[in-house]
Amino acid sequence: MENLMDSLKERLKERGYKLTPQRRATLDIIMQTQGKHLNTEEIYDLVKEKCPEIGLATVYRTLQLLDDMNVISKLNLDDGCIRYELNTHEDDHQHHHLICQSCGTIIEVDIDLLDHLEAEIEKCYNFVIKDHKVKFFGICSKCD
Ligand SMILES: [Zn+2]
Ligand SMILES: [Zn+2]
Ligand SMILES: [Zn+2]
Repeated sequence: MENLMDSLKERLKERGYKLTPQRRATLDIIMQTQGKHLNTEEIYDLVKEKCPEIGLATVYRTLQLLDDMNVISKLNLDDGCIRYELNTHEDDHQHHHLICQSCGTIIEVDIDLLDHLEAEIEKCYNFVIKDHKVKFFGICSKCD
């Protein structure tokens, strides 16, 4: 994961930004909590443990910046908060999510059965699909 830090440092430099301790700490937390889909406040609480002087606005701006740079991506589960997760796929295609409507558990889906659907849509609507985001809402096995 140190490679990610190095490449981020380079990319920030190209844009005239620096990898400040606050930015590094924010990305550290996102890497350490991969798969947890934390929201801005939860990320802030964890970053604060390492950088007590950091403000919510700084964390918020850092997340925006990392999102702009495609290092992380936003996940909106329609529950009123924005969550973030690390972009682990090199081809930019994020995995899909199963969201339990009873306990709120988020399960990541690695299989992608949508290529067939994409081909169908492209044909029917004469539309070139570049990406898709899918959320499945339902009840998990623990709540069933
Ligand atoms: Zn559940
Ligand atoms: Zn995820
Ligand atoms: Zn997909």
